[in-house]
Amino acid sequence: MGGVMMNKIAHFIKSFTLWELLKGLSVTGRYLFKTKVTIQYPEEKTPMSPRFRGLHALRRYANGEERCIACKLCEAVCPALAITIDSEEREDGTRRTTRYDIDLFKCIYCGFCEEACPVDSIVETHIFEYHFEEHGSQVMTKEMLLEMGDKYEKEIAANREADAKYR
Ligand code: SF4
Ligand code: SF4
Repeated sequence: MGGVMMNKIAHFIKSFTLWELLKGLSVTGRYLFKTKVTIQYPEEKTPMSPRFRGLHALRRYANGEERCIACKLCEAVCPALAITIDSEEREDGTRRTTRYDIDLFKCIYCGFCEEACPVDSIVETHIFEYHFEEHGSQVMTKEMLLEMGDKYEKEIAANREADAKYR
């Protein structure tokens, strides 16, 4: 009986002095001056690993020649069957793709294509902010992939160099 009364008194005093509120505010106060862990996305970005796997790109050599030799290893290894390649022999006897499509609705960004490529042609970039507005626009064509490669070559090369240190 005495215990119940004491609890009631303690509860009354706590309510009267706004104890719970002060307790909450003390937590707020504690974190007010601590280093913030949240960032102002999209203005601010978190650091990204050189191994990040985003949108794909096809690379060229420094002389402008496309690296891809149409060996189709990437197509064969892709577990999602997202890559479609057609190829033909050129006049100089080398083989090149006439079609290289990646269906981004099928792709699971596993990076197997990148791993399988013997000439560092197909790679995945850091680009992860994209959307599609029309049916069919989720298919990246060879032209789009080469364009991505041309645009981000400097960064792709730097990332691969950084990544090689950990292999
Ligand atoms: S990242 Fe994986 S799923 Fe996507 S195209 Fe490459 S191998 Fe296929
Ligand atoms: S991207 Fe690489 S693995 Fe794929 S077909 Fe071209 S050379 Fe072969």
